[in-house]
Amino acid sequence: MIQTVLVNDLRMDGKTQKRPLDETVVKKYNNFMEEGTVFPPIEVVYDGKDYWIWDGFHRLFAMLQLEIMETEVNVTKGTLHDAVWLSLSANKDHGMSRQVGIAKDLIIEALTDPDWSQLPFAKIAKHIGVTRQYMYQIAKAQGVEEAKQHSTETKVEAPKEDIPEPGSEKKVSPVKRTNGLYDMVGQKVPANIEHVFVRIDEFREMIRYCNKMLSSIKKGKEDGDIIYRNLKLDAILGQISDVKRTIKHSMPYAVCPYCFSDANNEKCSPCSGSGWVTELVWIAIPDDIKGGR
Ligand SMILES: [Zn+2]
Repeated sequence: MIQTVLVNDLRMDGKTQKRPLDETVVKKYNNFMEEGTVFPPIEVVYDGKDYWIWDGFHRLFAMLQLEIMETEVNVTKGTLHDAVWLSLSANKDHGMSRQVGIAKDLIIEALTDPDWSQLPFAKIAKHIGVTRQYMYQIAKAQGVEEAKQHSTETKVEAPKEDIPEPGSEKKVSPVKRTNGLYDMVGQKVPANIEHVFVRIDEFREMIRYCNKMLSSIKKGKEDGDIIYRNLKLDAILGQISDVKRTIKHSMPYAVCPYCFSDANNEKCSPCSGSGWVTELVWIAIPDDIKGGR
């Protein structure tokens, strides 16, 4: 399912990236994007809460550098574990863009997983995009035997009943200026709180700092830069994601649908008298109130 999401909502800290970031590829994509080339949607797994990217990291980093706010993604419903499984198949059709040695790491990752190691080796080989011979060769070297009783469980294709439809949350679009100022849900912003909404860029600037930090740490780690040796990449990716979410959830999001920032808004409790609410408050407000005007 194709859906539009905020670039900053994509989680990249789930160990779903199976090849190092190549800055020259990012730069190339960056240039193509600037001249208007449309890229295929990034592949993500939605677990009911987060969007886990499993293919398209170079595209994503190019977008972060260009400060592109929204992108189309191809959504599969599943778990983070499913996203990691799918990441083993990323780039297999153009295996050249993987690096030599990575296919072996992918096989070993599959063989050390309690679920995936129960699948027929032929199926794992096909998924990763390697020959069966190579698959058996690596398994043998690892001392792993093919399971006699194959798991009947099929990954990811199984419907996940408990996961809500992606996009059931309100579609987010940035503030636009077309004959006035509009909030993230398309309501016109009253003049008395325009000054709040025009300052959203200050929050976006903080998120950009986070992305820049992320980008340079990731690059530094991958280049083996000595000064980054004590920084744990997984930990810092998670922490920066948290900071970005916290900032995003503090931003002015919508005009308060209870008072619409009218003359009595100081007495309004949902917005604490401010006339506007954050995204999380907005989500919690019942639909019949939101449709009020
Ligand atoms: Zn209010």
